[in-house]
Amino acid sequence: MPRALITGITGQDGLYLAELLLSKGYDVFGLIRGQNNPKREMVRRTVPGVELLTGDLTDLSSLLRAMEAARPDEVYNLGAISFVAYSWENAMLTTDVTGKGVLNILEAVRLYSHDDPRKVRFYQASSSEMFGKVQEVPQRESTLLWPRSPYGVAKVFGHYMTINYRESYGMHASSGILFNHESPRRGPEFVTRKVSRAVARIELGLQDEIVMGNLDAKRDWGYAGDYVEAMWRMLQQDEGDDYVVATGETHSIRELLDVAFGAIGVSDWSGYVKQDPRFMRPAEVELLIGDPSKARTVLGWEPKVGFEQLVTMMVENDLEEQRALAGR
Ligand code: GDP
Repeated sequence: MPRALITGITGQDGLYLAELLLSKGYDVFGLIRGQNNPKREMVRRTVPGVELLTGDLTDLSSLLRAMEAARPDEVYNLGAISFVAYSWENAMLTTDVTGKGVLNILEAVRLYSHDDPRKVRFYQASSSEMFGKVQEVPQRESTLLWPRSPYGVAKVFGHYMTINYRESYGMHASSGILFNHESPRRGPEFVTRKVSRAVARIELGLQDEIVMGNLDAKRDWGYAGDYVEAMWRMLQQDEGDDYVVATGETHSIRELLDVAFGAIGVSDWSGYVKQDPRFMRPAEVELLIGDPSKARTVLGWEPKVGFEQLVTMMVENDLEEQRALAGR
């Protein structure tokens, strides 16, 4: 049985990846942070087959202990402080976890694999936020990185450190440059889920309006369930490498609102949506659109769920969840 260790097991991607690896017969270990982590029970319920280990990306010795306990063939580093807007308020903490945390886990993998640098295959969750003020359209693996937030800068550090460990020590280390990927498990602070939840609540008469930031930003949104498949495929290659994972389509926040409100039969949403500078960012990533050709050719990976299907799925899920919460 192959063995895998996942950091960030409590997040959207950690849960989908754990389900995928369990279905493939892996023994899966998840790293969980902190005493009495409130998400522990949710993880136990969602992926009962996962064995949870306690550790923190900022604590190298806890990572070494987790490596010894899990004895993994594959390590997926999905743990991060991942909300861009928050990263300006917590730039140092974001740097410690999202940036230096990558160095800590790479170092734990290297020390654990001292007899054979290729004993463990490593995946780093890099991000399209690294492209920031985009220098090329669409963005590909070779596009110059120009991050626009402390989060983006921290991800760039992790990306290059992963490449550096591959080149310095011959490790099988891969960096997946994943464009935005969403699902009903997305945190409500991200724009897709914020919208799907609000639209469901408006339909049920639980909320009157939604307060938003910049409606003109454009993102390449895919389905998280599809994207974890690409992570796994990267680690099944003979060599570690870097891959853009994206749909190759871009949509504005306005189009997101069109589809989400469309799912409840509202075509003119202007009366429901307000804008507030509170949700604007000090520097914005205006446009992201990825070129997934390399992932398609080398990994044989294709996204299955399109934008409209994704947003509709999220609204329908939130309708069900909000109905249950409201006792209807
Ligand atoms: P990000 O691409 O990782 O920052 O993902 P988000 O889902 O947080 O944001 C995507 C885009 O939506 C960004 O360009 C935001 O500025 C824009 N946006 C507009 N209004 C909102 C809002 O109310 N909340 C969030 N999170 N983003 C918003």
